Amino acid sequence: MALIVKKFGGSSVATPEKIFNIVNRVLRDKQPDDRIVVVVSAMGDTTDDLVRLAKEVTSMPYGREMDRLLSTGEQVTIALMALAFQAKGHAAVSMTGEQAGIATSDTFGKARILDIEPKRVLDALEAGNIVVVAGFQGMTEAGDITTLGRGGSDTTAVALAGAMKADVCEIFTDVDGVYSTDPRVAPGAVKLKEITYGEMLEMARLGAGVMQPRAVEMGHRYGVPIHVRSTFSDEEGTIIREEYTMKANQYAITGVADDTNVAKVSLVGVENVPGVAHQVFQALANKSIDVDMIVQSIRTTDDKRTDIVFTITRDDVNLAKQVLEELGQSMSIEECVINENMAKVSIIGAGMLGQPGVAAKMFGILSDEGVNIEIISTSEISISCLIGEEHIKTAVRAIHDKLILDGRG
Ligand code: ADP
Ligand code: ASP
Ligand code: MG
Repeated sequence: MALIVKKFGGSSVATPEKIFNIVNRVLRDKQPDDRIVVVVSAMGDTTDDLVRLAKEVTSMPYGREMDRLLSTGEQVTIALMALAFQAKGHAAVSMTGEQAGIATSDTFGKARILDIEPKRVLDALEAGNIVVVAGFQGMTEAGDITTLGRGGSDTTAVALAGAMKADVCEIFTDVDGVYSTDPRVAPGAVKLKEITYGEMLEMARLGAGVMQPRAVEMGHRYGVPIHVRSTFSDEEGTIIREEYTMKANQYAITGVADDTNVAKVSLVGVENVPGVAHQVFQALANKSIDVDMIVQSIRTTDDKRTDIVFTITRDDVNLAKQVLEELGQSMSIEECVINENMAKVSIIGAGMLGQPGVAAKMFGILSDEGVNIEIISTSEISISCLIGEEHIKTAVRAIHDKLILDGRG
């Protein structure tokens, strides 16, 4: 008897026919004593469509009302899927995030799961149901609906699996596993049989959209094995786990990630005195705007002024503009320039630690392709370069082919 959480993403549940295919597959694979929780996303591009709709009425699509709107997508899918299970003769109930006991912070649009009390889910399973839970959503203590950030259904699934001590969490999607880079960008990408939580978290954080970073974090925290696999085939996918079990899977560089949801903000000519950086980044943090790469330049000619350059996600650009305009009233900023045509390419691998020269190789490949690097940042297991968005596909393919494929012979 196993307790399994299965998550199906938007493209997997895009039509009633696809929902029926999933229902048939779940029923086919279910052993008589298995307890199954299915977590689903909104159908197809529903979430994007809802965002577009909101942008028709406001330039500031953030906050409580936005989450109420976005959370509706998943609610359509859970109802349809539960009805489909019933139509196939199996008892099923649908539950919203709140009904599944998911309590979150009140950071609308990027709420964090604080606690899960899955009692209703467990009771419904006990009564013989397949339980279909809406991904991407939860509820604040005050009773407001929240959403968990784009891709957040992954986090719902892994967190529920952790809270219920499930045997495994399966992430079904439109690719058959985690690849060394996005197979849509680099056709030579290779499928990974396994990857550690640490490397997957870094890949996801740096833009590999196949998993939401917080889902990987949750998996790590609760020790839930995550199996990323295809909705459309029975093939084994990729297991995300604590340690590699196969030596053959340990390379210096595991993957290349790209992120095009990037905007560069340049605060030109701010005062070069203590407290300025604190003031800028505190104001952004107060609005929950995540800042990624940061550079403060040294001027040789005018040391009374300095420039602060940083990156944020494009989704936060309008909010950041508002914050920086307000800040401009109380501090002196000569100019604020926002460039939304930026992208970030990164290499990830725990094995890089003992290999000097990897960064130089990466920069050399970009230089050979005529790509200018605007900002560089590193972590223990990754190196990232900010480049013009127009170069991102060329950069990913070249770095992947020369650093990963060549390295594997
Ligand atoms: P879902 O709707 O099922 O959540 P997503 O679109 O969020 O699916 O994630 C799957 C997509 O992630 C793939 O279609 C692929 O283009 C993209 N992707 C990015 N990086 C990777 C990677 N390293 N391995 C596999 N897929 C990746
Ligand atoms: N529907 C949400 C999104 O498109 C959540 C998800 O699919 O994971 O981001
Ligand atoms: Mg996703």
